[in-house]
Amino acid sequence: MIPYGRQDINQDDINAVIEVLQSDFLTQGPKVPEFERQVANYCGARFGVAVNSATSALHIACMALDIGPGDIVWTSPISFVASANCALYCGASVDFVDIDPETFNLSIAALAKKLEIANQQDRLPKALIPVHMAGQSCDMKAIAKLAQQYGFKIIEDASHAIGASYADTKVGCSVYSDMTVFSFHPVKIITSAEGGMVMTNDAVLNDKLQCFRSHGIIRDANAITEESHGPWYYEQVALGYNYRLSDMHAALGISQLSRLDQFISRRKEIASYYHQHLAELPLYTPVEAEGCASSWHLYIVRLHDDLMTRHREIFSSLRENGIGVQLHYIPIYRQPYYDHIDDSQYLSATEDYYKRAISIPISTNLTDDDLQRVILKLEHCLR
Ligand SMILES: *Cc1c(COP(=O)(O)O)cnc(C)c1O
Repeated sequence: MIPYGRQDINQDDINAVIEVLQSDFLTQGPKVPEFERQVANYCGARFGVAVNSATSALHIACMALDIGPGDIVWTSPISFVASANCALYCGASVDFVDIDPETFNLSIAALAKKLEIANQQDRLPKALIPVHMAGQSCDMKAIAKLAQQYGFKIIEDASHAIGASYADTKVGCSVYSDMTVFSFHPVKIITSAEGGMVMTNDAVLNDKLQCFRSHGIIRDANAITEESHGPWYYEQVALGYNYRLSDMHAALGISQLSRLDQFISRRKEIASYYHQHLAELPLYTPVEAEGCASSWHLYIVRLHDDLMTRHREIFSSLRENGIGVQLHYIPIYRQPYYDHIDDSQYLSATEDYYKRAISIPISTNLTDDDLQRVILKLEHCLR
C-alpha cells in the first residue's frame, strides 16, 4: 500500500537522537530551547514553546487566552478533532464556520456573516481557530481585520503548514494572530515522533504557555509571587500539565527542520506532477490562493458531480488497488461526541466537500514509479 503520508528519516536524524541518549539530559536539557529558537527563527516569530503534541499546544494556547466556561470558540469543521477539542478541555463551547469550496479553509464570507448574526445575539466567539487545511494558509489579513472589528482572539492551527508562506511571510510568524500551533506528528511535514509548538510574538503569552506546559510551576526569581524560602524554591501558580517535549524528540525535530525546505520542494514537485497528470480526469484538483504557497501536506482531489454517488466505491477500490487514500476529514460536528449538533445545522459547503473529497498519497519518499502508479490506479478506478 502506498500510504497517503509517511515520515522521511535519514541517518542524520538517527544520529541526532542517539547523541541525546548518550548525553546528560534525556529531557529538560538544551535541545528543547534550541529547537524552539530554530523554529522561531525559521518562521519569524519571537517565541516558540515546544510541547509533546499539537493537541497539547492547542490546549495551552486556549488556556493562555483565559478561555473557560461560558466562552465560545469557533473553528473549521473540516479539521482533525483536536482543533475543536481544545476549547472543550477548557470548558468552553465550540461552533463551526462553513468552508470555502476552493481552499477547504474556513470561508471568510461565511465567517463575516456568522459574526454579524452572533453580534446581534450577543454570542460572539472569544477566539477563532482557523485551520490551514492541507498546508495552505487561510486569508489571515481578512481574519485579522474581522478580529479587530469584533474583538476576538486568533489561534492559527498550522499543524499542516510549517514551511508554507502567506503574503511574503512564513506561516508561524503570527503577525496576523495571537499564536500559531505546529504539529510534528510523523504524518506531518517534519516530525519529532510526537511533538508540537506554539509560536507567538507576545511575551506575556509566552510566559503563560511555558508555565502551563510544566505543571503551572514558575522558578524565575522575578516572577515568583511570594518570598523565596531558599535555593530550592519554586511556586505553582496555576493548574498546568506535564506537556513537555523530551530532548530526544527535540533533537529529531532539529535534524528534520534542517531538511524542511528540501521536503517542501519535493512536495511541490509531486503536487505539480499530479496537477499535470490528473488534468484529464473527472476530478477537481487543489488550487493555491493568491499570495499563498502551500506546504502540500495533503493533496486532496474532489470528484465531479456525476461521480459523487460513487464516492465510497471509488475510495474502496483505490484502497483495494494499493493506493492508501484517506478522507480529511469527517466534519467534526458529525462525530458522535458532538452529536448535540443536529442535522439542521450541518453546513452546506462542508457537506458537499465530504461527499467528494479524497486525499491521494503525497510524501517526500514517494518515487516517480509510485506517482505513476497512483495515476494509473486513479484512471482505472474512476472508469
Ligand atoms: C495532526 C493535527 C492536530 C493534532 O496534532 P498532534 O500533534 O497529533 O496532537 C491538530 N490539528 C490538525 C489540523 C492536525 O492535522
